[in-house]
Amino acid sequence: MKLIAATGNAHKLIEFEAITKDFGFELLPKDAVGLGGFDPDEPGETFAENSLIKAKAICEKCGFPSIADDSGIVVDALGGAPGVHSARYAGEHGDDAANRLKLLAELGDTPAAERTGRFCSVVTIVWPKDTPEGAYPFFASVTDDGYPYIQGTGYVEGHIAFEESGENGFGYDSIFIPLGFSETFGILPSDTKNAISHRANALLAVRSQLERGL
Ligand code: IMP
Repeated sequence: MKLIAATGNAHKLIEFEAITKDFGFELLPKDAVGLGGFDPDEPGETFAENSLIKAKAICEKCGFPSIADDSGIVVDALGGAPGVHSARYAGEHGDDAANRLKLLAELGDTPAAERTGRFCSVVTIVWPKDTPEGAYPFFASVTDDGYPYIQGTGYVEGHIAFEESGENGFGYDSIFIPLGFSETFGILPSDTKNAISHRANALLAVRSQLERGL
């Protein structure tokens, strides 16, 4: 059974594939079904809403089960910002470097002990509405318009650094120090990040639901 990923990000595709292939899914990026340029709006107020919106929009268009994640960084001293607005914190263009600079500027000289935050991710798998029972987990939720879906949530707790360090990763990685480490995700090896990341934890939560339900 094909499973369409609502992303073209190669890094996310590898992570999605690792948890879905054991369940007989053939993971394909959205451009494989002609939806490469399709980027649904994300009007939701939560990661869960936006993750479901993305997965369902792709599923509706292509007719195959679809998987999406929505993620971002939540900073306690900023009342939870940037949160669901992480990708466009410094403007609509989605510029990672500008987003990091804005976050550091907003925190200013907030002391280390108050610079707590976390990366959050919600992964959603949606099945087409005519999918027969038994082909999706029996405990799946169902949208108002009839699409079965499951979701998994993951977090990684940490601190926002005072300045950028490291070149690894993307987004806010070079200013985020995960709990239990003294260096940012920009310096830590990608294997370390992938073992503890919010997305890895969200994918594990989805995996355990597929194990119980398929
Ligand atoms: P989206 O989930 O693709 O909409 O992106 C959310 C935004 O959150 C990204 O543009 C990044 O700025 C940030 N983000 C999500 N996951 C990570 C991560 O693993 N490292 C660094 N930044 C991340």
